[in-house]
Amino acid sequence: MTDRKEPTFRESVDLMFNRAVALMDLSPGLEEKIRVCNATYTVRFGVRLRGQIHTFTGYRSVHSEHMEPVKGGIRYSMAVHQDEVEALAALMTYKCALVEVPFGGSKGGLRIDPREWEEHELEQITRRFAYELIKRDLIHPAQNVPAPDMGTGEREMAWIADQYKRMATTDINYRGCVTGKPVNAGGIQGRTEATGRGVQYALQEFFRHPEDIAAAGLSGTLDGKRVIVQGLGNVGYHAAKFLSEEDGCKITAIIERDGALLDDTGLDVEAVRNWIARHGGVEGYPGGSFVREGAKVLEGACDILIPAALEGVINLENAERITAPLIIEAANGPITAGADEILRQKGTVIIPDMYANAGGVTVSYFEWVKNLSHIRFGRIGRRQEEARHQLIVNELERLNRGIGDAWDISPDFKQKYLRGAGELELVRSGLDDTMRTAYQAMREIWHGREDVTDLRTAAYLVAIARVAASYRAMGL
Ligand code: GLU
Repeated sequence: MTDRKEPTFRESVDLMFNRAVALMDLSPGLEEKIRVCNATYTVRFGVRLRGQIHTFTGYRSVHSEHMEPVKGGIRYSMAVHQDEVEALAALMTYKCALVEVPFGGSKGGLRIDPREWEEHELEQITRRFAYELIKRDLIHPAQNVPAPDMGTGEREMAWIADQYKRMATTDINYRGCVTGKPVNAGGIQGRTEATGRGVQYALQEFFRHPEDIAAAGLSGTLDGKRVIVQGLGNVGYHAAKFLSEEDGCKITAIIERDGALLDDTGLDVEAVRNWIARHGGVEGYPGGSFVREGAKVLEGACDILIPAALEGVINLENAERITAPLIIEAANGPITAGADEILRQKGTVIIPDMYANAGGVTVSYFEWVKNLSHIRFGRIGRRQEEARHQLIVNELERLNRGIGDAWDISPDFKQKYLRGAGELELVRSGLDDTMRTAYQAMREIWHGREDVTDLRTAAYLVAIARVAASYRAMGL
């Protein structure tokens, strides 16, 4: 325990920003311009439901418009408030800059518990909220493009896109007004799992660098690593699923709202997810052991800890007791600024949120580009690519016949080589490339500068330098 005061989420983001700019040579005016949130719109609107009028409060914050459109999800939660939305909008600015997605930062939120409402009621509420934002160009393909966040998903995005279409009947690019839509309503393959996939790609890239693995006191590859995941929502579920099914990680604990499941031999992520969907929590799941006090499990022994739920879960109260040598922040802001300092001093390696969970906005960018180009990725070139590959395979087979079938071309090679890349393969390739490149930009600073001892500061330095360059280019 410590007697220090815990900063709020917003203060945490500012503290981390300040720590980074102290190492930069920005003019104080520009520093302030980048740090502050440009605008926050608050709306209170009424919807008649269940025989009476219910009033809802919603926000859309625009942190930085150095690039437009500005981008960021809309969250549905009773914990939503202006400071939270502004902190999240700031993180979006830095996140987009770090992964070179050409957007400014924004975020939205609606104070609502989505589990309290029926689907048709949620549709009415969402359409009404969207109406308020669209009216003010706070949803617009060229200016402000929301996406899913906690408590929202493709269903809400489809309603928002349809609402925009009703109000902007002549906008040919209406589909680009929001991302994370269902594939049959202008979405893109691979968006739903993109954030979890990005967490996987981030860890894969981390484990390509022996120096970085050693910095966390780990060794070897991802194979066999013990992983604790907090939150089996969209991000945590996909990250845990891919890491266990494709990289050989063992998910030794899953922490959920009602408690945690532990199993040293590795939990079956798919089965746990299905159990939660049917029973509303992890209690009673027939595999592993159940612990009511989930927060304690965060402190348990593992190789990798993945907080994929709320902000502020690792704080001044528990930071000292966190034993994981490597933490990857799949959620936004799960580690407070105070906890970050304690963990840094302990030598814990933290892969920061603005990088770790950037897979979502990266694929959102691909979706937006697809919407503006009005064509699915791969549609033009795929068969041409296959035809050219076929030519090579035919030629190899002809040469092989000429030498009496001396080579044995494996059927697996032929099948894989002949298949041209479809939209999903292209999205994955673009996401993987983005995650690798951004990681390398961070680690160059992490290892290259004596005054930078952690990845978060390195991430801020890369991001802030890029935002500053945009402002300078605009003449500010
Ligand atoms: N809500 C996600 C995030 O925090 C995705 C944002 C987006 O795709 O615009 O990064």
